[in-house]
Amino acid sequence: MMREKFFAREIAFILFAIICGWFYSYEAIGQVILPPELPWYGKSQSFVVAKNDPWITLAESSDFTRTPRFDETVKWLQELAAAAPELKMISLGKSPEGRDIWMVIASKERAFTPAALRAANKPIFLAQAGIHAGEIDGKDAGMMLLRDMTVAGKKRDLLDGANLLFIPIFNVDAHERFSAYGRINQRGPVETGWRTNARNLNLNRDYAKLDTPEMRAIIRALNEWNPDLYFDLHVTDGADYQYDITFGYTGKHGYSPAIATWLEEILRPNLDRDLKAMGHIPGPLVFPINGRDFQQGIIDFTAGPRFSNSYGDVRHLPTVLIENHSLKPYKQRVLGTYVLLESTMRLLAKETRKLREAVTADCNRRQQDVPLSWQVPKSPPAMIDLLAVESKISPSKITRSDYVQWTGKPVTLRVPHMQNNEPALTVRRPKAYWIPPAWSEVIERLALHGVQMEKLTEPREVEVEMYRIQNAKLANQAFEGHVGVTSTPVIERHKRNFPAASVRISTDQPLGDLAVLLLEPDSPDSFFQWGFFLEILSATEYVEEYVMHPMAERMLAEDAKLKAEFEQKLKSDSTFAKSPQEKLQWFYQRTPFFDREWNLYPVGRETKP
Ligand SMILES: [Zn+2]
Repeated sequence: MMREKFFAREIAFILFAIICGWFYSYEAIGQVILPPELPWYGKSQSFVVAKNDPWITLAESSDFTRTPRFDETVKWLQELAAAAPELKMISLGKSPEGRDIWMVIASKERAFTPAALRAANKPIFLAQAGIHAGEIDGKDAGMMLLRDMTVAGKKRDLLDGANLLFIPIFNVDAHERFSAYGRINQRGPVETGWRTNARNLNLNRDYAKLDTPEMRAIIRALNEWNPDLYFDLHVTDGADYQYDITFGYTGKHGYSPAIATWLEEILRPNLDRDLKAMGHIPGPLVFPINGRDFQQGIIDFTAGPRFSNSYGDVRHLPTVLIENHSLKPYKQRVLGTYVLLESTMRLLAKETRKLREAVTADCNRRQQDVPLSWQVPKSPPAMIDLLAVESKISPSKITRSDYVQWTGKPVTLRVPHMQNNEPALTVRRPKAYWIPPAWSEVIERLALHGVQMEKLTEPREVEVEMYRIQNAKLANQAFEGHVGVTSTPVIERHKRNFPAASVRISTDQPLGDLAVLLLEPDSPDSFFQWGFFLEILSATEYVEEYVMHPMAERMLAEDAKLKAEFEQKLKSDSTFAKSPQEKLQWFYQRTPFFDREWNLYPVGRETKP
């Protein structure tokens, strides 16, 4: 009786819900309605171990609905490392909340120090997961692969050809901001971490400026362990399409053309082949020109060194950005990442000689004109076939406009493939830069990048070019903990006394291009534009009018040329003619009391041979 009553009430509720159009959309607040899932049956599903396997991962045992927390991950990996002599875990440093950033070293030779690993003379592959901790596919894929290469005994041969450095969770604090509400556009796992670190900084905007302890730890590791290949594993947001694993890197137009050639001609076809063989759908990075209309094309974006892949390009470290497609199920994404990592290990075993030759060629390259920013050329773009998903524009009652909906129907579209691969702005490479010791935050960051520098033991007078900053404009909002600044710098020549402890940075070094991009004020990722030199924009001394008046009178009486110049200015500039302050300032600027350091960017460019 009770039961029947309950049943009737349920039916009534469901009918009510359907009538109100609520049944799917408001079943529970917080339950996301994603576009339709595309069916997938990849062969890579065979990598999932049986439920009773002692080394099953949480992702596998939960049918890829869950991913382990930081402590669970570390515990599982520590147990694996204890059981597998080929593995060792080391901490690269601590996060702001005090967590260790762990790296697993997988080496058949048990080469667990940078020197020993280099001495093993095998390719070194560094795969980094969870820079955005909600995008955590790489962690679960890497755990499975580490197991299969060691205790499971299935793929031991992988460690014959290459050594692996694996960072399971880079953004460790963000990983523990763990909930069902971290990734609204992503199909699983049910709970994840967050994008930004404990101070709300995006680590994938920190490669150039190095503010965060996490990024500093990684850059130190890159310098110490010197990998042959570096993977930064992400998940996308945005448009729907068929590809599940997309990846890219800066092209041959960038700062490392030989490396780009290897990535494009050797890495990509190999990974594509292996991913397809396992039932995955590899593709290029997909950044639509218009997220509502693929027909307008996609853009292959050359970014600045704040991003991993661009940073790698500028420092001649082969770096690949991997973006798994957020709308694919977690299982498909993790298994695709597994195939990607395995395929890369196998490729490196065969192709590292060519890759190392490419790295050497790019490290020895000295571009005379260094590009600072990029634009899309005027010539018509290439056309590519894009494995897209059909979309439609539907009217919206909420916005009274319209919005894009993805129908789940695969379509192949012929679309323009834009590339901003033409230098928009270049600068002549100086012989060296000179930085006074007062700008210690900048010197310290350059040293952390691994830029070689010579420190003065006593003061030295040097003839340098210096920039006078004009039209400085501060950003109207904070970005990544900084207030950015743009300007139109103008070159002046100065004989300058650089105090002891100033540094001279030659651009004739492998990180020469990086020094240029960090030190030229016209470069969007320069320390200047990030706001590390805001102090120079303030004038700190001033003149009283009771002093400037008699002084200006005397200047006019004693200097006929100055007088003519002043009269000309009065005639030609009506604002000036009406402004007593501007007039006094005009005279003040022509006295030796005026601050010559105001707006003078303190970094010198040594250009003489
Ligand atoms: Zn990301």
